[in-house]
Amino acid sequence: MTASLIGDNLLRPFQLEQSALRGRLVRLGALVDRVLTRHDYPEPVSRLLGELFVLAATLAGGLKFQGTFSLQVRSAGPVSLMIADCTNDGAMRGYAKFDAARVAAAPQATVRDLLGDGQLALTVDQSEAGQTYQGIVELTGNTLTECMQAYFRQSEQLKTGLKIAVERVEDQSARRWRAGGIMVQRLPEQVADGGEERMEEDWRRTMLLLGTATEGELVDPHLAPERLLLRLFHDEGVRVFQPLDLSFRCRCSRERVELVLRRFPPADLEDMKEADGQLVVTCEFCKAAYRFDEAKLARLHGGPH
Ligand SMILES: [Zn+2]
Repeated sequence: MTASLIGDNLLRPFQLEQSALRGRLVRLGALVDRVLTRHDYPEPVSRLLGELFVLAATLAGGLKFQGTFSLQVRSAGPVSLMIADCTNDGAMRGYAKFDAARVAAAPQATVRDLLGDGQLALTVDQSEAGQTYQGIVELTGNTLTECMQAYFRQSEQLKTGLKIAVERVEDQSARRWRAGGIMVQRLPEQVADGGEERMEEDWRRTMLLLGTATEGELVDPHLAPERLLLRLFHDEGVRVFQPLDLSFRCRCSRERVELVLRRFPPADLEDMKEADGQLVVTCEFCKAAYRFDEAKLARLHGGPH
């Protein structure tokens, strides 16, 4: 059975026919569990990174690009770095860097306590077209979701409704991380037949309906995404579009690691060696370890083959 049949690890665009509002639903199961469990993050860090993953998929789904959309948080707080990215064909990856003692000492798991005065950067990296779009989100809300909503209000004049949940769910006697979210947006150029008043009314009604989605529903492994949309918006005429399957896929490779190592002078590489004389580069995203012995290092700098 493919992921889209079960309804996990996917991005499902939809439209509400009554109001012509567009939306996207994201559901992450095994994908997000793999990331959060393999890295064994403390719970507050897992929740933040899970939220960032849902945001990355949701936002990527609203952009036309060939390449990688990435969200990156940098802060002086207990969690100093978080990355989640999503390619146009649905490959996702991400990780967090944090100080465990400071995370444990944080009074609450809010953005303020864990990320301090951080910033969230939005980037689209299109290696083919060579274009990069960047936006900066100030982290002034309690959750990343709140920060993102404020960003849309201020900088893009996109009316945006957003609800995200990250939960640990009992599944076949194991506790697994799951995450999900729904975003509804009104594009600036959108004009309804009934004019401004009708548009406002449509928006208010839709936000009330979105508000009734519970965290449990957003992550429920037994509730198909389409059924959840129908449950929430049954009088609005929900039309769903072809989903995009999302999967964990890292883009690291031995070749890429070699490209990076070539930029270091031989003396620096010497300092990076471990006790056994090998140099080991571990990918932060997937934990893959790339090993270089003396002979391989020599080859990097055009030494004997
Ligand atoms: Zn990797």
